[in-house]
Amino acid sequence: MSKVAEAVAKFKKVSIDYDHSGLTDDVKNALPYLKKAMDGITRIFLRQQSEGLPEVYDEVMAGNDEEKKEFFKLFMGPWGQLENYKSLFPEYNDRPRTCAFYPVDITKEEWEEALAGMTEEEKELMMDNYSVIVRENGKLKAIPYHVYFAEELADIFDNMEAAANVVENQELKEYLLARAEGLVTGNYRDSDATWVRMKNVPIDPVIGPFEVYADDFMGIKATYEAFLMVVDHEKGARLHEIEQNLNKISEIFPLPAESKAAVGGMAPMIVVHQIYTGGEAAQGIMASAFNLPNDAWVRGNVGWKQIMIYNIMKAKFDTCTVKIAEKVSHGRIKADFDPYFYFVLMHEVSHGLGPAYRKDGTPVAKAIGKNYTAVEEAKADTGSLYSLLKCGGKYGIPGFDKERILNSFFAGLFRSMRFGVHEAHGAANVVEYNWLKEKGVIKVLPNGDFETDATNLVEAAESLLYELCRIEAEATPEEAEAFLKKYAEPGRDILDALDKLVEIPIDIRVEYAL
Ligand SMILES: [Zn+2]
Repeated sequence: MSKVAEAVAKFKKVSIDYDHSGLTDDVKNALPYLKKAMDGITRIFLRQQSEGLPEVYDEVMAGNDEEKKEFFKLFMGPWGQLENYKSLFPEYNDRPRTCAFYPVDITKEEWEEALAGMTEEEKELMMDNYSVIVRENGKLKAIPYHVYFAEELADIFDNMEAAANVVENQELKEYLLARAEGLVTGNYRDSDATWVRMKNVPIDPVIGPFEVYADDFMGIKATYEAFLMVVDHEKGARLHEIEQNLNKISEIFPLPAESKAAVGGMAPMIVVHQIYTGGEAAQGIMASAFNLPNDAWVRGNVGWKQIMIYNIMKAKFDTCTVKIAEKVSHGRIKADFDPYFYFVLMHEVSHGLGPAYRKDGTPVAKAIGKNYTAVEEAKADTGSLYSLLKCGGKYGIPGFDKERILNSFFAGLFRSMRFGVHEAHGAANVVEYNWLKEKGVIKVLPNGDFETDATNLVEAAESLLYELCRIEAEATPEEAEAFLKKYAEPGRDILDALDKLVEIPIDIRVEYAL
């Protein structure tokens, strides 16, 4: 297999349809306009990575090299996402670390020098998340996105307005108009706030410049992306019940040594089914959850939303996670999605529970230092597992039997470890694995296969949660380090199992029915 075919083959093709029956005709009629708007976002995103890429993309799509077409469709350019955006084609360069946010030959010195000679206002525009830096007559200059991409945005505006004119839901109509306006004026904040407040809508279109991951020069320039999602109000109601019962759920989290929990509770969560994406959201690895907006003012004054993308999470689970569990157990361990979904959800909830401050008021993160993330991720996982076991059937949490909970949890362990056992999430999963193995919940057979045994599961989850909360509440950084040294080191059993997973897809390649 060629390197190009190999890179594509790591992503398994999956078709994603959606339940049309829940949508009214006016909403269905708006979808084609929103789809066009999101395709416009894709054009901008291509240009953001490299000027001229939209034209290259069209050429490739008009050609007959099917392998290349598949690659370009999946990764939105000639660069491999798992290869750190190196070009996999001899005829193209690697993705510049500046993308096209800056002149490709810019240096830090030139940047600093330019800033030094600027007014406060000019500086602010240079540092803005939403401006492109160009060189004019040898001098750097910032141009706001809404000016730089005005042509593409005018089209996007028209399509969003057309969608707004069709839909009858007042909240949705107002948001679409506000967002369209925000995109062409560069005032994103008002419509970000409108989006956070928007509650009773059939669909949730998210569209705009958001994340800054692609900017490898300064880490400040946002890429455009778009998500079109159908809101699942039935699952949302369950979440609401969980939210209402947060106090009761929090009681199962110990607060040792007079530590204190955070106030404020849980981020508002919404369950959706994704039916289309554009821009960076359509590139490579699919997000199965996200939280927006990033604007600090909106987060502080209005709030934010946490989006759980049910159908994408399920497609990933069925394609990758289930297969992982089957592979390392020779088919003995059968994971299923529903407990896994609630596990992921309660993981997010659990981040807000348990010790947040020590007796003297020091935030736990500060007290533990560099190992905090690994400890906190392990706490969120273990808190989630324990809450499914202890509160299942109450407080909005569905009741699953222990075996199902354990097997889905087990599958998730190896899914995370696969992305790196030394990264914080991976390390947390190694801790959980080693603890459960010590308590006899996970067993390794002589041939290296795994088995699960739920007999001691509740006690094992409880003791680990207590230990993690104790570390957060009173351990020194050295004690936290020693704990991780003991539990976060992957043994031969884990490493051998990970070796067996090479032919299981890394992620999915989505084809939308829309
Ligand atoms: Zn987490």
